[in-house]
Amino acid sequence: MVVGAGPVGRFLAAELQRHGIETLLLEQRDAAADTRSRSDSAPNGRAIGLHPPVLAALEACGATERILEEAARIERGAAYDRARRLATLDFSALGARFPFAASVPQQTTERAISASGPAPICGARVTAISSEPDRVRLCVRIDGSPRERTARAVVLATGAAGRDLALPFTRLSLREYPDRYLMTDAPAALDPRADERTAIITLDRHGVLESFPLAGGGRRLVARIAGHSAGSLDRTAADALRRAVEERTGSEALAAAIGTVSPFRIRRAHVHRMRLDPAVRCFVIGDAAHEVSPIGGQGMNLGLLDAAGLAPILIARLRGRNVENAVQTWERDRLASARTAARLGGLNTALGRARSRRAHAALAAGIAATMRTPLRRTLARAYTMGFDRAAERVHPYEGGRRSGADPVP
Ligand SMILES: Cc1cc2nc3c(=O)[nH]c(=O)nc-3n(C[C@H](O)[C@H](O)[C@H](O)COP(=O)(O)OP(=O)(O)OC[C@H]3O[C@@H](n4cnc5c(N)ncnc54)[C@H](O)[C@@H]3O)c2cc1C
Repeated sequence: MVVGAGPVGRFLAAELQRHGIETLLLEQRDAAADTRSRSDSAPNGRAIGLHPPVLAALEACGATERILEEAARIERGAAYDRARRLATLDFSALGARFPFAASVPQQTTERAISASGPAPICGARVTAISSEPDRVRLCVRIDGSPRERTARAVVLATGAAGRDLALPFTRLSLREYPDRYLMTDAPAALDPRADERTAIITLDRHGVLESFPLAGGGRRLVARIAGHSAGSLDRTAADALRRAVEERTGSEALAAAIGTVSPFRIRRAHVHRMRLDPAVRCFVIGDAAHEVSPIGGQGMNLGLLDAAGLAPILIARLRGRNVENAVQTWERDRLASARTAARLGGLNTALGRARSRRAHAALAAGIAATMRTPLRRTLARAYTMGFDRAAERVHPYEGGRRSGADPVP
């Protein structure tokens, strides 16, 4: 049983089913809410970026092909100080098989994955799990009524909202950041510096403004806003974002085009164990296991790579093989990869903060100088998740070995 039909749970369930494992995917939301929130206009799933190793990992189930039919391809990132270009990171120079990040709405990613996986059982909220040597017991509320179910293995992919289910089995480290962001989708043509293959990071002394190409045209704008309540979706939030966009890009037209905004805050969290029991039947993956700053766009990707690595191990386990070593390596690598992504997210968050005029000038000069060194290539790889431990296996950079999901051990 896979608990949680977000992108990560859907991918794991699809991989297990593809290898002939009977898999149930439980989702707490009812069917109507699930369909509504997975529609393209809904604000719930807000991830857009899929990085090269993940595109490679999703290939075998056919999702990559479906995603790339719709995606915008981000081939480079450019750092600006208002209209002045400071530096460019070129992802296409990495020698990767998918030399770009794909930009699609999270709902499109989920649909592309679900096309080859089991449909979620909606209205099924898991309230507790307990591991026994030969099975796992789950307490589930199905359409409001309490039931007990058993499974040979259970994977929690509940996102942060359902993380409590894992906490009887592992410790959690959690940190809240003071930073607040506002986000909107705006027409592309209005950003004078934008082309459809370039992500633009505007470093401003009042805070960062990010602008990413969206599938089908348009830009995703994300701005750090001083002191704005992250909970509010009101007119003042839209005004705050309009002011920030005009101040940081100089474009009145772009600012005027801003309609609905969506706020978010930043947390960093990770569990200490992703394998939850001695019998190797319970796991936690995705945001339930680790949450990183969305500034950097790696959270969903990390979770999808958790699932890509866990699927073959679980399949082998369910076929009665000894997977002890494989599990230990997987857990160590996934926790290390989450730390790497969290550090990068933390760096991005710090770079995006407000600072004095003098500190801002020094930062801009430092970035321009750094990007003239070979470090530029390392950063291009870091920003496309080339240093995730799974990337070495699923996604060959410059003469790597092979592509596709991990084989069953
Ligand atoms: C503004 C913003 C922008 C982002 N942009 C990006 C990006 O561009 N790229 C990127 O990689 N990441 C991005 N992220 C992060 C990304 O959204 C998350 O990492 C991703 O959604 C995690 O997926 P998940 O499947 O682990 O969890 P979720 O998407 O949270 O899904 C969990 C599911 O489990 C269900 N559930 C919870 N508890 C239970 C229970 N007890 N029983 C049954 N079901 C349950 C929930 O209803 C939900 O459907 C962004 C995040 C934010 C906030």
